[in-house]
Amino acid sequence: MRLVILGGPGAGKGTQTEYLCSYLSIPCISTGEILREAIAAQTSLGVLAEPYVKIGELVRDETMIEFIRLRLMVPDVTNGWLLDGYPRTAFQAEELDFLVEEFGQKVDWAIYLDVADSVLMSRSLGRSRADDRPEIVKRRIQLFRDRTIPILEYYEHRQKLLTVNGDQPPEQIHQEIVKKLMGNS
Ligand code: AMP
Repeated sequence: MRLVILGGPGAGKGTQTEYLCSYLSIPCISTGEILREAIAAQTSLGVLAEPYVKIGELVRDETMIEFIRLRLMVPDVTNGWLLDGYPRTAFQAEELDFLVEEFGQKVDWAIYLDVADSVLMSRSLGRSRADDRPEIVKRRIQLFRDRTIPILEYYEHRQKLLTVNGDQPPEQIHQEIVKKLMGNS
């Protein structure tokens, strides 16, 4: 199964990604995590991404698309994957479809963890990441509303959107996602 998980900063994407990847035995690809590691190691991707991640802005589409293209060519993804943190813009969503089409594949479902902004804010501030300072979190929520919400329409239009209430205990959210995935496959 090829899945993407969508939700604002602090929506619980990381936790649900872990549950789902182990449940479905597929690799999870978290762009935020990979970028943070690349920045720490100062790789060429890390150096390109650092100025954006530091202030909560989106890394340029061209950089991310190239990065995902390379990542989806690694053999561990032949049986499926879950993307956490990608796509972040409608352009990235479109490019992802073109890319998987090239491989003769398709994105099966986009899972959206629906969480109110006030909850996103308080959850993000409860973490201790370098990019979780209040003004940066606010900017990331705003960017999510402006740039990522249009992706929901993109997948809705293609009848690939599964919306789940993300303001529930993690285990319950997981059960709801599994039920929806199985009910629709
Ligand atoms: P995350 O952990 O998914 O919230 O990502 C942390 C930061 O990495 C974001 O605030 C962005 O600066 C950057 N980032 C992660 N994924 C993407 C993406 N698909 N496009 C652009 N920037 C991204």
